[in-house]
Amino acid sequence: MILGFDADDTLWHNEDGFQASHREFEQLLAEWADPETIDDQLFTIESRNLPRYGYGVKAYTLSMIECAIAVSGGQIGADAISTMLDLGHALLDRPIELLDGVEEVLDELGRHQLMIITKGDLYHQLLRIENSGLQHRFWQSEVVAHKDPSTYQRVLKLHGVAPEEFVMVGNSVPSDVLPVLAVGGRAVHIPYHVTWTHERHDGDHGAPTLNNMRELPDLLSDWGLH
Ligand SMILES: [Mg+2]
Repeated sequence: MILGFDADDTLWHNEDGFQASHREFEQLLAEWADPETIDDQLFTIESRNLPRYGYGVKAYTLSMIECAIAVSGGQIGADAISTMLDLGHALLDRPIELLDGVEEVLDELGRHQLMIITKGDLYHQLLRIENSGLQHRFWQSEVVAHKDPSTYQRVLKLHGVAPEEFVMVGNSVPSDVLPVLAVGGRAVHIPYHVTWTHERHDGDHGAPTLNNMRELPDLLSDWGLH
């Protein structure tokens, strides 16, 4: 059995940092718009830029600046833009903080072959994997541009993994659950306490949902895999 793990908000904290950054961004633009308008505008700009920039902090920083120019009608000053760059740098430089139970559960599952499959900035994600102290526990680490069915198919084929031998664990239904089920693998959803708008999903997805990584070994036992 090959176990795939998402990284951001599955192995370590991530989205809470973005949310804190959003609050500071809203403050910077407070004289021009209310928080809801700013969030809507930022989401629209981030969505429009995804095919150009992909995912990650650098894309987010550029979208913040674009949003500030739009919301302020071109009045935003260099000081505020400089603060936005600082917000981006703070996210890039943020130390890795593992989620509860991650190290213990990875140790317990060590007899399986473990993979990281994450999307985002290639350089930033490789650095985070290295700084996480978890790298030696993983058989393979893959940083991908998208998490769609064809990406999972390509990654599994590359490493000689049959979909029916693969279980993906992650916090995002659209990225970690649905595309894996679509290619014939199994998935486990472990929600994080906050979810980026792009990763939200309403409705049933047919995969088990756990409260915490610590519940994973028992679920795998129930599946006869542990
Ligand atoms: Mg994630």
